[in-house]
Amino acid sequence: MPQWVYNHRGSIRIDIETCTACKLCYEELPELFADRGDGIPIVYARVIGEDTKERLFKIAEDCPSGSIILE
Ligand code: SF4
Repeated sequence: MPQWVYNHRGSIRIDIETCTACKLCYEELPELFADRGDGIPIVYARVIGEDTKERLFKIAEDCPSGSIILE
């Protein structure tokens, strides 16, 4: 059973079983993601602007393991 890290709105999920801790998401979008301490990201922003949203879509596409799930 996968484990999930949710943001407060429940619209962004990180599959921590498939995440390879490549650092891309929190290096590219530090206003939304952070390293929880072991390389796995946490999502901590509640509301994001349009610019951040577009960058989020790109990073979700670029995630090498497809671990960023947007709903
Ligand atoms: S980009 Fe994907 S694989 Fe890399 S740290 Fe973020 S969620 Fe994990």
